[in-house]
Amino acid sequence: MRSFRAVGDEPVFIEHGDGPFVFDADSNRYVDLVCGWGSCLHGHAYPSVVEAVIKAADKGLGFGACCEAESRLAEIIIGAIPSIERVRFVNSGTEAVMSAIRLARAATGRTKILKFAGGYHGHVDSLLVSAGSGAATLGRPDSAGVPESIASTTIVAPYNDLAEVEAAVTSYGKELAGILVEPIAGNMGFVPPVQGFLAGLRSLCDRCGALLIFDEVMTGFRVAWGGYQTLNQSPSPRAGAPCEHFAGPGAGAARAGALNPNPSPNPSVGAPNAIDSRPDITVLGKVIGGGMPVAAYGGTAALMSNVSPLGPMYQAGTLSGNPVAMAAGIAALSACKEQTYNRLRQISRALTEGLQMKARESGFELQTGSCGGLWGLAFSPRPIRNFDDAKSCDHSRYAQFFRAMMDRGVFLPPSSFEALFVSAAHESAVEQVIAAADKSFRSLRR
Ligand SMILES: *Cc1c(COP(=O)(O)O)cnc(C)c1O
Repeated sequence: MRSFRAVGDEPVFIEHGDGPFVFDADSNRYVDLVCGWGSCLHGHAYPSVVEAVIKAADKGLGFGACCEAESRLAEIIIGAIPSIERVRFVNSGTEAVMSAIRLARAATGRTKILKFAGGYHGHVDSLLVSAGSGAATLGRPDSAGVPESIASTTIVAPYNDLAEVEAAVTSYGKELAGILVEPIAGNMGFVPPVQGFLAGLRSLCDRCGALLIFDEVMTGFRVAWGGYQTLNQSPSPRAGAPCEHFAGPGAGAARAGALNPNPSPNPSVGAPNAIDSRPDITVLGKVIGGGMPVAAYGGTAALMSNVSPLGPMYQAGTLSGNPVAMAAGIAALSACKEQTYNRLRQISRALTEGLQMKARESGFELQTGSCGGLWGLAFSPRPIRNFDDAKSCDHSRYAQFFRAMMDRGVFLPPSSFEALFVSAAHESAVEQVIAAADKSFRSLRR
């Protein structure tokens, strides 16, 4: 991504960041809508996070032994996400997903994992597999260096298509260790689950004895305090309000089935929905490290007791639970307040509405959607519900838009298969982004 190949541009080298901005080596300033691919929730160089890191580093960079900071970050996560009773820290989302599927296999004694076309879970060998054309299919490697035998342990189904998942469960159910899903697909644009999709996955898992694994590396602590799974539940005052639906031409169908399947004026009444689709294993990353290399996987105490040293599943890491990285995570999560998620939601909404309006004025059909500090845009006349839809977007138009926005001081993700991010510091940059988008849309040839 950072090579800018997908948008036909030369990569920028970032020299420093400050709040909503990044500055490149040539001293150009950009409003940053990549935000460290979502790891930055409060803005770049956020003072309390930087101070915590300096303070921790002053005591030594790491010891490969237990430290209090690790327990404190674990307590924050366990307190925020009811499905997690125990949590293990690792260093990247990739490593956390890899460990989570090992845990699913250890706990079930089964091998196969079902993932969704267009779902990205890091560069785990067995998950670098492409989609079949529509139907659920055994995975084929998507990358050089991945043996067929490893890729074939993965089953791929289309996102938002319960019938296909059910067909796969009928064929492979007894071999299925887990279903791995991004509760909002954020690596093929911004694709929310249709109503009943996640609850349907929950009941299919229960039917065949597989574990439901939520990859909340991107959504965790970004769409709400906790993650997507705590959105409708919200006993915590820090939880965010529900998501904004797709707003775009032809969005009616998606709106009916988009986010927040059980919208409820009383947050506590939303809980059944969260329990309906409660995952067995949750994978976290990005935000929980406050910009440092931290990721985690967790679940019930019983399930996590399969992991070494309590159980037979080996998993370890020299740098895991590193005190400096843990300090950054604690500081970042401690800085999350109710107004943080309200602000993130307002910023995302202002951007999606603003861009929507400017696109329409210039005659472009744009799909937009947002949830907390996560949002997306797609040049498409139809809402995006799966990978095939995502592939059918006008990617060369996005590439032109990307370059036009860079020229006007806005750093978008350098691929139209990516979601967009904001931090709570982006409030002051909203107008600038919308003005740049207006000029950019007008500059594009129709
Ligand atoms: C970023 C991401 C990963 C991989 O995390 P890394 O830290 O880059 O290895 C996994 N899953 C999802 C949903 C992600 O967005």
